[in-house]
Amino acid sequence: MVDREKGRLVIISGPSGAGKSTVVLQLLDRCEIPLKLSVSATTRPARAGEIDGVHYHFLGASEFDDLREKGEFLECKEVFGLGYWYGTLREQVATGLKEGFWVILEIDVQGAMAVLEQSDFEPITIFIHTGGLDSLESRLRGRETEDDEVISRRLRIAEDEIQLMHRYRYQIINDSVDQAADEICQRLVEHRDL
Ligand code: ADP
Ligand code: 5GP
Repeated sequence: MVDREKGRLVIISGPSGAGKSTVVLQLLDRCEIPLKLSVSATTRPARAGEIDGVHYHFLGASEFDDLREKGEFLECKEVFGLGYWYGTLREQVATGLKEGFWVILEIDVQGAMAVLEQSDFEPITIFIHTGGLDSLESRLRGRETEDDEVISRRLRIAEDEIQLMHRYRYQIINDSVDQAADEICQRLVEHRDL
């Protein structure tokens, strides 16, 4: 059971390529709310420039399974059907909340739904999107981290994810990174001041 006595849980989802990581970095930089990004575990290999323990905890499949069997994940999913698992570590969330941080989970829609089903959380949910699949595709291609097959798969999944965006409290269009970060910050401040 996670203690959410002090902090709040904030879930940010959206299709791959929508700009979640970019916007979250700006949000962490400029928002007055004490935010902390939860570092997920994944079995996906690290991309160039990604640092273990900073961007993700990069684990082998058996290490990940061990943690799952021990119930160490608040939620975990095989996100793109490519055999790679991603999971939110309970300990990351519990420690952050206890310290009074607003803990951000940047997770996929299925993971978000799994957290929402757990009655001990009242997460603030935010869906980031681009407003269209074309812009999503060009951002994914521009990022140059995935090959064509992976991009096609991510775009197919994006269509399903967009169907579920109404389940989120806020929908934010990321035309401008600064504006998207400011808008999210403003929403969080409103929650703090409720
Ligand atoms: P996600 O975390 O949602 O998969 P990223 O943050 O990696 O997406 O962004 C995908 C690509 O789009 C990156 O190359 C990033 O620099 C670019 N990007 C992010 N936000 C914007 C924006 N508002 N306008 C143009 N390009 C953007
Ligand atoms: P990427 O491979 O581009 O880093 O991330 C792919 C997807 O995995 C993104 O949609 C991201 O939100 C999601 N993701 C990252 N960490 C987690 C996690 O802990 N749980 C779930 N369910 N999804 C995650």
